[in-house]
Amino acid sequence: MTTRRTHIVGAGIAGLSAALTVTADGGEAIVYEAAPQPGGRCRTLQPADGFVHDNGTHVLFTANGHALDLLKAIGARDRWFEPEPKGLPLYDGKTGEMRRVGLSPWSWLLPSRRPHGLTLPDLARILRLLLAAKDCPVASIIGDRPIMDSLIEPLTVAVLNTPPAQASSQRLACALRRLIRPGAGRLLVARNGLSEDLIEPALATLAARGATVHTGQRLRRLLTGQERVIGLALTDRTVMLGPDDRVILALPPYEVERLLPALPVPTSFEPILNVHYRMKGLSGPRFIGFTGTLAQWALVRPSHVSVTVSAADAVVDLNAADVAARIWRDIAPALRRLGLDADGDRQPESRVVKEKRATIRQAAEDLPQPPLRPLMNLALAGDWLGSLPATIESAVMAGEHAASLLRHARCTRPTVPRDRPLKTEDAA
Ligand SMILES: Cc1cc2nc3c(=O)[nH]c(=O)nc-3n(C[C@H](O)[C@H](O)[C@H](O)COP(=O)(O)OP(=O)(O)OC[C@H]3O[C@@H](n4cnc5c(N)ncnc54)[C@H](O)[C@@H]3O)c2cc1C
Repeated sequence: MTTRRTHIVGAGIAGLSAALTVTADGGEAIVYEAAPQPGGRCRTLQPADGFVHDNGTHVLFTANGHALDLLKAIGARDRWFEPEPKGLPLYDGKTGEMRRVGLSPWSWLLPSRRPHGLTLPDLARILRLLLAAKDCPVASIIGDRPIMDSLIEPLTVAVLNTPPAQASSQRLACALRRLIRPGAGRLLVARNGLSEDLIEPALATLAARGATVHTGQRLRRLLTGQERVIGLALTDRTVMLGPDDRVILALPPYEVERLLPALPVPTSFEPILNVHYRMKGLSGPRFIGFTGTLAQWALVRPSHVSVTVSAADAVVDLNAADVAARIWRDIAPALRRLGLDADGDRQPESRVVKEKRATIRQAAEDLPQPPLRPLMNLALAGDWLGSLPATIESAVMAGEHAASLLRHARCTRPTVPRDRPLKTEDAA
């Protein structure tokens, strides 16, 4: 009897999700990751100076059912909690006002939880956005109204990491339709950090199920023949596949394009810039949104404050220290309102993390999408596949889907005579 293995390339959320799906059924998974640490775009940085923080704050919503199910499967659901159960504190940098806003549209029934400037015509426009049959930029539906600044713009860049003037109304609508469900609009963050509360529990679960994860192993080339993968040329080894072996490429689109150049993939990306200020925070993490400032939100942890600028094209190439100083001046008054000792003229030590290709650009245009099983024994996974916003949720779903596509698939050609040599070609 031959052993059927699933070789998973990429140990980001999509790859880990695929490995968890494969091993949940008793299958064997081997994961290869190029970086020294798993997690991909979802990771905690542990530099030598001891200033430990995530690459960037990640939030989940209770609407993200697949991500929450993954957390349950790895025993980490209770590590993700709601820092602002009474509504999101929102600081307006132009007026200095601070108010709480509900993230679920149902909470807007209470005037005190409504976004600033929300009117009945705005609700009609939001409804149009939710139901529109044709994709168009979010801004073309909402228009230049107060609600754009107080809700739609921050929401669009948070969900799609693309400015409303370009962002796809249909992708945003996909996310909003899920958020509307009662109880689905609660915002969750990791209690301690992404590695501790997500990646490490996933790795521990995989290890307990007998899966192996090899870090420092970049897939350099796919060896293919007869429309299937026959080998993986990695950093320091070549793994030849058995006849029943499967491969999942859980990689960003530019890596898929390099390995399988004939496939159509998205080629435009949007950056996210994060500034982490090392300072005494609050014992219980807090989350705060901003309007009228460069940054959109901050997560206050006991030892630091992490600030996020999504759709950061305009600032990502600026001098990091200048950006950190500008953001600090903007947000110090808001942090003081939360009870922190934050003086606009005394900026704490900071570290700027620039993720230049944080997500694909999710514009109102047809994004190139490859077939999900381009070779008989190979499936693709990654947050960029499908029509949902590119997030943890879509990465989890893509990993699950790739595993299930291959589970029942016939991955070899019965018509190929056994003694006929397979043609090995360099697909790169
Ligand atoms: C700063 C920031 C903030 C974000 N905020 C949120 C948020 O609040 N909520 C949310 O839901 N999502 C958020 N996201 C998006 C989320 O991080 C991604 O959607 C998700 O992590 C994508 O996972 P993935 O597995 O598809 O891709 P990746 O994380 O990119 O994983 C791909 C993996 O493949 C590895 N790899 C690449 N090439 C090779 C190769 N040739 N061989 C072997 N390995 C290779 C990479 O090192 C990487 O580990 C954010 C992203 C960033 C960058």
